[in-house]
Amino acid sequence: MHLQVDDVDLPMAPYQLAIANLLPGDMEPPNFRTDAYTVAAEAAEFEQFLDDRFPREKFPEFRREVDNPGRSPVLWGCTAPSKIACYQVIVEIRRMWRAAASVGRLIAVMSNDRLPLLRICGFCQKLFIAGRNNQMTCDKKCGSALRWRRKRAKAKEYELNRELNISRKDRQQKLKKKGAVK
Ligand SMILES: [Zn+2]
Repeated sequence: MHLQVDDVDLPMAPYQLAIANLLPGDMEPPNFRTDAYTVAAEAAEFEQFLDDRFPREKFPEFRREVDNPGRSPVLWGCTAPSKIACYQVIVEIRRMWRAAASVGRLIAVMSNDRLPLLRICGFCQKLFIAGRNNQMTCDKKCGSALRWRRKRAKAKEYELNRELNISRKDRQQKLKKKGAVK
């Protein structure tokens, strides 16, 4: 089976990737639900939801997009009529491209094929397009962070095994001693 996102030559404008990355990769933006009766009440509730979940200080880029429906500045000409619609568009695009990267990877692994170039960073989980086939992180910083994490995990495993062996030997010796006493 050969299904590779980058082989299909999708007209994927870089801005879609930028939209998908407006929020950090290691979080899942929730769907906004309300049972408010009026548009005004819904808007007020959504405003609260935004400030609680995505405070401007912490998510400035994302908030710049959501807070300016219809005249989103840098990335896209989103014509979403309201903040809620804007939020939904961003979340939708983000889910779609992240799913494409995950599914593409799964298919490639199952069919023992080359990994598609649309990927999720192995360290920060950001979506990116790999420049080389063996590039697994979005940039060099994440690359060295990932190597460091793997190294530490290996060292930890080694340490754990060593302790396990020591306590095993310890137990065996105690058992031997007990046997000797009898
Ligand atoms: Zn990264």
